[in-house]
Amino acid sequence: MKRVILPAGESVAALGQGTWRMGDNQATRAEEIATLRLGLDLGLTLIDTAEMYGEGRAEELIGEAIAGRRDEVFLVSKVMPSNASRRGTINACEQSLRRLKSDQIDLYLLHWRGSTPLEETLEAFATLQRSGKIRYWGVSNFDRADMEELIQLAGGSAVATNQLLYNLSRRGIEWDLLPWLREQAIPLMAYSPIEQARLLRNPHLKDFAKRNDMTPAQVALAWLLAADDIMVIPKTGRRERLKENCHALYQPLTPAQLAELDRLFPPPTGPHPLEML
Ligand code: NAP
Repeated sequence: MKRVILPAGESVAALGQGTWRMGDNQATRAEEIATLRLGLDLGLTLIDTAEMYGEGRAEELIGEAIAGRRDEVFLVSKVMPSNASRRGTINACEQSLRRLKSDQIDLYLLHWRGSTPLEETLEAFATLQRSGKIRYWGVSNFDRADMEELIQLAGGSAVATNQLLYNLSRRGIEWDLLPWLREQAIPLMAYSPIEQARLLRNPHLKDFAKRNDMTPAQVALAWLLAADDIMVIPKTGRRERLKENCHALYQPLTPAQLAELDRLFPPPTGPHPLEML
């Protein structure tokens, strides 16, 4: 399994598993759990979730899926901005831990920036680290100005990642946010890497995939996996698709293929407001 090194020196699986909308439908629950477990077998040990997903149902499903296998997992969850006060963050984390049936979250993210002063959330993250309830903390949906402000705050430079919308059809962050993250050696976690499956219908991607003996999902994931500092968290609740997606790891794109994808999905030529889903 290709790995990405976090600022603290620990490495995590570059290809992980997203869980948004898992646990919402009783009829698909067993297959979703089987998919997460198969993912662990295949080395996709980074699991991303959030207290927001299904109002805790995704975390509960993960708790069931990883029962007896907690040590294999690098568990990522998120606090909602409306809970991100000093006390609220700690309460939210404790509730996530109960749903996850775990005593520790590996990486705890602020889901997006809200009105709570960042200092308060950082103090809560530090308290949670001291008590062993989280190991690392990070942010999500932070633009460059938010990141610049964050790293000036006490303890702020310990941010482990910024989880952002990034895929072939959403390349705006390449203008200045991604270069800035690289200067600071902060790895990126790319969410909605196949644009919630919409990208798979793109005729250019379909044609490229066909010519290169890959599926559209494999191309989209392999494009992100070409970087050394990007963790990629596609979501699927189906074992067949998980296996398909996992193959992206073993089909690295050549420089010529990457150049062709640049022509088909051009990088930004100017600044873009940060996009999120
Ligand atoms: P995504 O991973 O780009 O796409 C997921 C969708 O694609 C699902 O509907 C899935 O359906 C389908 N799919 C997956 N593999 C496929 C394949 N090989 N062929 C056809 N369809 C396929 O979108 P996402 O769920 O929005 O993003 C991934 C994860 O990022 C989330 O689950 C969540 O953990 C995280 N996220 C974070 C934020 C944030 O604000 N921080 C926002 C959005 C997402 P099936 O499950 O039915 O296969």
